[in-house]
Amino acid sequence: MSKEYDVIVIGAGIVGSLVARYLSKYQLEILLIEKEVDVGMGTSSANSAAIHAGYDAVPGSNKALTNVMAVDMWPQLSQELGIAYERCGDYVVAVDDEEMRVLEELLERGKQNGVPGMEIICGDEIRKREPLLRPDVVGALWAPTGGISDPFAATIAAAENAVMNGVTLKLSTAFEDFIMEGSRIIGVRTNQGNFYARWVVNAAGLYADEVMHKAGVRPEFTIRPRRGEYLILDKADFQLTNTTILFPTPSSKGKGILVASTLHGNVIVGPNANFVDSKENKDVTKEGAEEIWSGGKKLVPAIERKYIIAEFGGLRATGNAPSPNPDINYNQDFIIEIPENVQGLVNLGGIESPGFTAAPAIAIQVIELLKGAGEDLKAKPNWNPVRTPRPVFRHLNREEQAHLIGKDPAYGRIVCRCEMVTEGEILAEIHSPIPATTYDAIKRRTWTGTGRCQGGFDMPRVVAILSQELGISPEAVTKKGQGSEFLFRRTKDVVKDHLTVEGLL
Ligand SMILES: Cc1cc2nc3c(=O)[nH]c(=O)nc-3n(C[C@H](O)[C@H](O)[C@H](O)COP(=O)(O)OP(=O)(O)OC[C@H]3O[C@@H](n4cnc5c(N)ncnc54)[C@H](O)[C@@H]3O)c2cc1C
Repeated sequence: MSKEYDVIVIGAGIVGSLVARYLSKYQLEILLIEKEVDVGMGTSSANSAAIHAGYDAVPGSNKALTNVMAVDMWPQLSQELGIAYERCGDYVVAVDDEEMRVLEELLERGKQNGVPGMEIICGDEIRKREPLLRPDVVGALWAPTGGISDPFAATIAAAENAVMNGVTLKLSTAFEDFIMEGSRIIGVRTNQGNFYARWVVNAAGLYADEVMHKAGVRPEFTIRPRRGEYLILDKADFQLTNTTILFPTPSSKGKGILVASTLHGNVIVGPNANFVDSKENKDVTKEGAEEIWSGGKKLVPAIERKYIIAEFGGLRATGNAPSPNPDINYNQDFIIEIPENVQGLVNLGGIESPGFTAAPAIAIQVIELLKGAGEDLKAKPNWNPVRTPRPVFRHLNREEQAHLIGKDPAYGRIVCRCEMVTEGEILAEIHSPIPATTYDAIKRRTWTGTGRCQGGFDMPRVVAILSQELGISPEAVTKKGQGSEFLFRRTKDVVKDHLTVEGLL
């Protein structure tokens, strides 16, 4: 029988990675499995990056409780993980009396949820703070505890900190079924073999319903993927006056199409919210792009189509779980539980927005559930919460850059011109605790290929570096795992074959 773990976590999105990271505080053998070639390739890599203040969630729901609790955790967490985070606050903008009435409701909801410092400001005040907003804005809800993070960096850093603290991470390892003794889970069957543990945490995001069904838990619970599409604007062309998030007044479809800064300096526009049939369909459609464009343009008329440099789509794991709070009638809550009918499972499900914000609080709740189930969690004396970030060349001053190049000349070779990413940074990520082994893994970690040329300049260089460092042929280098290779054959070989066929060689 293979090694027995104390806890196996299924899924290395932000939730699973933070669960593993916080659990690594304790004297536990932990295994984190992820079906993809890298951590954070699911919904955690395609969202608005907002740390929601917490006025949107239904009071008394798991969503509201974990959201508001987590907002206070992000400043320390970001510092410990060495990632960007800005508590810039956010605005919900109203353009008529009806929308002002909705703002009053949101303010009241925020108060019930315990969101501090919120206020409704008048049209003149919000236009003063963000002059690019449409001129007929009559007021806005201001939430100073709203913020922006970097979801790519957050997930990678959380998983990396977990690994530094002894968690075993197995990538390309897909959960297939539970191994059970009666109604007790004793392990998981995966495409890489069986692994045994006393506890399994279901953090499988969009697939959490299918995972829990394998254990016979909540057969009525289903996740319907709800797609959100986005457009990204060139940072050289357009900036908001301040780093911020501008929401329209929400409707029955959700929070609406925002215009917001990212901590990488771009402005994003989106998302819409449309149910799709497939849990893999992250396409951006022509209709979707039009929908978000008109929503964004309505809010900030100064944006122009010619500023668009990229698009992406993400899928919300929209569930149908009734809230555990009997005082509220709400059927789209987060599931955070140890189910009664099986033993050995911590079950998470329906973690749609504000799931990125709420993730650290969900992780703490997982620990509380384990303690409540009688686990005697003993602190690890040498737990290190700090993950030191690697140098980011473009963030350094000239002297620091010169010093870095002096130590390692690879930092003097620019691979991505738009974002000023150096070969040194790419090499550092390939040789980091969770090695980047694909183009997208490099992109998520260094921001190479995200600028105006969208990889046109850097991609061949990154492929060559990956090929050399991983000791594989350039044809074996992929964008995001098997089936996404960039190169098929050497051009010279194709020409040679052709000439041979023609009898010219
Ligand atoms: C359009 C959009 C906008 C959003 N905006 C925000 C926002 O601004 N703020 C906010 O707080 N939240 C936001 N969210 C929600 C947030 O992104 C999610 O709640 C959060 O990322 C969920 O994290 P997760 O770890 O549960 O899921 P994921 O990131 O999807 O991680 C689950 C992981 O499990 C893995 N997995 C699945 N099945 C298996 C298996 N069988 N074996 C092994 N591994 C498996 C997947 O590959 C994946 O890596 C948004 C979501 C969307 C779609």
